[in-house]
Amino acid sequence: MDPKPLPYSELNGISKKTLEIHHDKLYVGYVKKVDELAGKFKDIIQRILADETDGNATYSDIRNLKAAETFAINGVYLHEWYFDVLGGAGNAAEAPELSKALIEKWGSIENTIKYVSVCAMAARGWSVLCWDAKAGRVKHYNSDAHDQGGVWGCIPLITLDCYEHAYFIDYGSDKKQYIEAFWKNLNWKVAEELYLKAKTLTL
Ligand code: FE
Repeated sequence: MDPKPLPYSELNGISKKTLEIHHDKLYVGYVKKVDELAGKFKDIIQRILADETDGNATYSDIRNLKAAETFAINGVYLHEWYFDVLGGAGNAAEAPELSKALIEKWGSIENTIKYVSVCAMAARGWSVLCWDAKAGRVKHYNSDAHDQGGVWGCIPLITLDCYEHAYFIDYGSDKKQYIEAFWKNLNWKVAEELYLKAKTLTL
């Protein structure tokens, strides 16, 4: 698969250095692993069909590959959701329909930002405000790792990377300041486009 380029070269309060390491090394690293795993799957499918390997749940080659698969692909997708929704001016007026849904759920945009920010402080991996297609409304979920805590049937709208690599160079251990910078750079227009597409889906 091809890595998606960053749609901007710098952000307000999130340095070029952080973005370069985050996008060019970490994100691209996940993309490469997805490609590497595709080759491994080709091999193991042949071995499974030839009865040369089983699916033992304590240890087996396929078990390890399946665990690596979700970690790698979610590492790619979550970073794309995150990078794509930045590069804006933090202006919620650019997302009128999404704003309506957030106000209905949490009372105001300020309340939404406050709630999601505290959730993000509590997350070790990801904070995701999403369209929950099963519930048919916006929801928020935390995840502690790429392959843990995600809820199937959800389409991310506002995705916040909570790992230290997203802010340590710029803010040391001050995660709160990083989260504030995230909101300042949020591209609400992108979040609105995602919301309008996602909300057509209720399952
Ligand atoms: Fe990251």
